[in-house]
Amino acid sequence: MNPLLSDWGGASEGGLPPFSMVRAEHFEPAFHAAMAAQRAEFDAIAADPQPPSFANTAAALDASGRWLGRVEMLFHTLNASRSTPELQAVQRCMAAPLAAHASWVAMHQGVFARLDDLLRRVDSLGLDAEARRLLERLHLEAVRAGARLGAAERQRCAELMQELAELNTRFAQNVMADEAGYQLVLRSEAELAGLPEFARAVMRQAAAERGLAPGDHLVSLSRSHIVPFLTFSARRDLREQAWRAWVGRGENAGETDNRAIAQRILSLRNEQARLHGQASFADYQLLDTMAGSKGAVQGLLQRVWDAALCATERERDAVRAAALAHGATHALEAWDWRFYAEKVRQARYALDEAELKPYFPLEAMVAAMFDCAGRLFGLRFERRPGWPVYHPDVQAYEVFDADGSHRAVFLHDNFARLGKRSGAWMNALRWHRLEGGRQTPVILNTNNFAKGAPDSPTLLCLDDMRTLFHEFGHGLHGMLSETRFERLSGTQVLRDFVELPSQLMEHWIADPAVMRRHCRHWQSGAPIPEALIDRIRAAELFNQGYETVRYTASALVDLAIHSLEEEEAPDISAFERDTLARLGAPADCGMNHRLAHFQHLFVGDSYAAGYYVYLWAEVLDCDAFEAFKEAGDLFDAATAARYRRHVLAVGNAVEPGATYRAFRGRDARIEPMLKGRGLLQV
Ligand SMILES: [Zn+2]
Repeated sequence: MNPLLSDWGGASEGGLPPFSMVRAEHFEPAFHAAMAAQRAEFDAIAADPQPPSFANTAAALDASGRWLGRVEMLFHTLNASRSTPELQAVQRCMAAPLAAHASWVAMHQGVFARLDDLLRRVDSLGLDAEARRLLERLHLEAVRAGARLGAAERQRCAELMQELAELNTRFAQNVMADEAGYQLVLRSEAELAGLPEFARAVMRQAAAERGLAPGDHLVSLSRSHIVPFLTFSARRDLREQAWRAWVGRGENAGETDNRAIAQRILSLRNEQARLHGQASFADYQLLDTMAGSKGAVQGLLQRVWDAALCATERERDAVRAAALAHGATHALEAWDWRFYAEKVRQARYALDEAELKPYFPLEAMVAAMFDCAGRLFGLRFERRPGWPVYHPDVQAYEVFDADGSHRAVFLHDNFARLGKRSGAWMNALRWHRLEGGRQTPVILNTNNFAKGAPDSPTLLCLDDMRTLFHEFGHGLHGMLSETRFERLSGTQVLRDFVELPSQLMEHWIADPAVMRRHCRHWQSGAPIPEALIDRIRAAELFNQGYETVRYTASALVDLAIHSLEEEEAPDISAFERDTLARLGAPADCGMNHRLAHFQHLFVGDSYAAGYYVYLWAEVLDCDAFEAFKEAGDLFDAATAARYRRHVLAVGNAVEPGATYRAFRGRDARIEPMLKGRGLLQV
């Protein structure tokens, strides 16, 4: 019996898949059967003897491929969060057939002819705004996939998509392998020098999980290990070693080397852009964004880059002074910055991670997150321990709306572990829709926090708290959707708009009143001291130049390499080095992601020429948060209701600029973002 061949999700199990019955070998036959079903749906739509209408074409397309979507969402969830060699093998062997199918669907000539006919007479169809938007999006997506090209070009488009899908898969698996293949084991007090107890506890736990000897401490390349290690380890030699391993992912000669793969991906993307009459992939990619063009993106990035470089010069003076004060006369290297910046932070703001973390136990922070959603939108989250999950760490919740009705199912998967991709993300197992009967969404939030030892709670740092709230913002976008059509629902919006709801949520946990209400010492129960909140606020802008340079360097390299017009892509390492030199990027800061492991760019194309989107959306979220401040209450009911109605509920049913103006009454201004990063006075 293959559980993927039938529907799942009775109401008693929250619409969740039967995780415990699903085996890796079930996926391949299910994928093939579900693809065949969608091909039949498309052929039937094209062969409909009735003239094209919105219902028999656009709405029918929105209703097609549901089985395949369900199986794909489940597969991606398991492969990202509970991966096995068997699932990875399925991913490798299905990448090309799934890409071929996606191309076949997107370029189906019979279906496209009907869409084209409908769009030509769209004004006479009497459609409401959302129906019109669906028709326009379906048509645009078909055109962007190549539906309008000649037969030979369409064939080439399909070949490109298949090869790209295989290369994307290899790129991701290589990064995962490099991360899994590295371990720095600390065995003596001398090797642990400088590391505070909370970092040691996390590393002991990681060592135990991998079956190392008692007393061993493991530093993996997971962010929750590497960042504390670089921040606190007094062993400069080990910091350098760990740093080199971290930034060298994907660039180690041998089987997991990503350089040639990335180069090939870039060449294929350039060919794809040229087939569509664009000079570069960035030109092609940015057409369907809120920014709209390379110039708009470059303008924003350059403005922020110049201001951030000035800010790092001031920060570097302080970091150097701290190094000298600690007797370090060597030049400041990339593996030194965090370590001495932490010394500055401690001296200047008396802010010590070890002092903060006891006030941020994960469980209380999750409660804080739900409380904010309750006060803003009237939502209520109830644990459902009996519902199926794919790993014991995952918690299932039923979500109720203000009127007590069932709103969504929410899965929370918070801990780093082997077989789980690094980073944090939101995804869906089921999207919301109203058409054909309401379907409520099933939404996941995935984080990679280092799990506390068995006898103590998981304690978060400030960065973790921001991540927790960030992903929850995406989650709310998925859960509060009110769209009629499934493909316009939730976070399926233009990519430079999608980070607005997530980044907006981060503002709440940074607020003193929210901290006062929720942050209590996990042992004593004492509320977080006012003085500590003041010091957190005072330190907020510290090291923002460094963080901004690291982000913007990655975004500028992404835009530059995707703007190349040559058919053959260059060697990525040389290109990265030359671009950073041209930009005057400071070597002691580094960048968030180097090209050889830049998964945003090379695992799928949605963030290719698109790493800028976080900054673009930050202009929106900082300006949007001002609306709550202007209302005089961060939980102002009218502002929250406006935000829910005009941003969260509409998904992609409204063009993003119009969505934002409906909420704010005007376009976003850049100043709140610059001010928020301390870059305004420069
Ligand atoms: Zn995000």
